[in-house]
Amino acid sequence: MRLSRSFLPTLKETPADAQIASHRLMLRAGLVRQTASGIYAWLPAGLRVLRNIETIVRQEQNRVGAQELLMPTLQSADLWRRSGRYDAYGPEMLRIRDRHERELLYGPTNEEMITDLFGQVVKSYKDLPKALYHIQWKFRDEVRPRFGVMRGREFLMKDAYSFDQDYASAVASYQRMMLAYLRTFQRLGVRAVPMVADTGPIGGELSHEFLILAPTGESGVFYDAALEGQDWLAEPVDTDNHQALASFFDEVTSHYAATDEKHDEAAWDKIPVERRREGRGIEVGHIFYFGDKYTKSMDISVTGPDGTMIHPEMGSYGIGVSRLVGAIIEASHDDAGIIWPESIAPFRAVIINLKGGDEECDALCEKLYAAGPDALLYDDRKDRAGAKFADADLMGHPWQIIVGPRGAKAGLVELKHRATGERVEISPEEALKKVFAV
Ligand code: ATP
Ligand code: MG
Repeated sequence: MRLSRSFLPTLKETPADAQIASHRLMLRAGLVRQTASGIYAWLPAGLRVLRNIETIVRQEQNRVGAQELLMPTLQSADLWRRSGRYDAYGPEMLRIRDRHERELLYGPTNEEMITDLFGQVVKSYKDLPKALYHIQWKFRDEVRPRFGVMRGREFLMKDAYSFDQDYASAVASYQRMMLAYLRTFQRLGVRAVPMVADTGPIGGELSHEFLILAPTGESGVFYDAALEGQDWLAEPVDTDNHQALASFFDEVTSHYAATDEKHDEAAWDKIPVERRREGRGIEVGHIFYFGDKYTKSMDISVTGPDGTMIHPEMGSYGIGVSRLVGAIIEASHDDAGIIWPESIAPFRAVIINLKGGDEECDALCEKLYAAGPDALLYDDRKDRAGAKFADADLMGHPWQIIVGPRGAKAGLVELKHRATGERVEISPEEALKKVFAV
């Protein structure tokens, strides 16, 4: 994309109402604009990030056998009356009436709808397990929307739901999702630590929140450094094998990790001091086993192995896709701007033409631009070099390919790595090869 023709509005001034770095940077880098309290329009660069995150989330969900579908944002109140949650949900639910006075709501989550769909289709334990997910906008009328997309009212979530014939199989589904989440966050280029979370009235240990460490996080976090640096992409776990899943899960959960709500001082004291990590975190995912809560209340059953009817056991698994954009920036920025992990950057590189109008510079830039893929941005604006550098740092492209008159004469460009600040002088072909591995 050529910057001169793009819709990538960067701001020099710091927006006054944005309290945290990621919110300021998302506005300044032209990723989003607020259109109403807690509701945002995603501009082209922001949308590219959202899509990149979605792609990784999808691949890892599919990898553990979850199937994608798409449920609507609007749901009927009657569906929620069947589980008893229509009255229980409270003012966070946005309730709507259509022209026929039928009651609808903008979905804050989809347990009821997926349970109903499942019940219409699956009639026997032989068709279990099933895991289904979608990536869809949710609405929760938060009392205090804040920190930009981090706590919005309308936000994008990946929510998955599993259905199993018994507890053992439901646990395996839960463990599979835990693995999918660890792999997803690693691929997104952030560290999100799974921490024991409240299970509410159901009890047990099968609820974990995934938190990205950042000083502005809403939760206090305590964890064992043994959880750092584990590589979930390198160690294949056979997700069809319950034993393999269980030992993977035991390994992860053997290390202490809890938010302030579940913190246990006695357990904490047993961890060697040098391994104690304490700070703040942002919840970006939550996995939860809740048994037959919905299948029972909504009267959904399938034939069991011995011919009697059983209520399948369920779990639900959320990832805050739009919150992640803010959370990742919160964890990865400096004074100059965003530092995108390569896997989700809106553009992988920007060509900075230091002297627009100079024949050699223009020719070299055009040649580079023509040879590059869609993820190559070209700053062809008539601005000063300083302004272009500032915008490139602000927008956080992993690589900057800098073209100046001296280099152009010699057939060289300067390649700058945003994260480390390292610069090398190389040929344009080598630069493209290095950035895009082509
Ligand atoms: P929180 O405690 O932050 O309010 P929650 O526990 O209510 O979140 P879940 O129902 O577990 O949220 O939703 C799954 C995921 O959706 C969360 O882990 C979070 O990443 C994301 N999420 C929840 N509420 C919001 C929101 N208001 N804005 C953006 N993302 C959200
Ligand atoms: Mg939660």
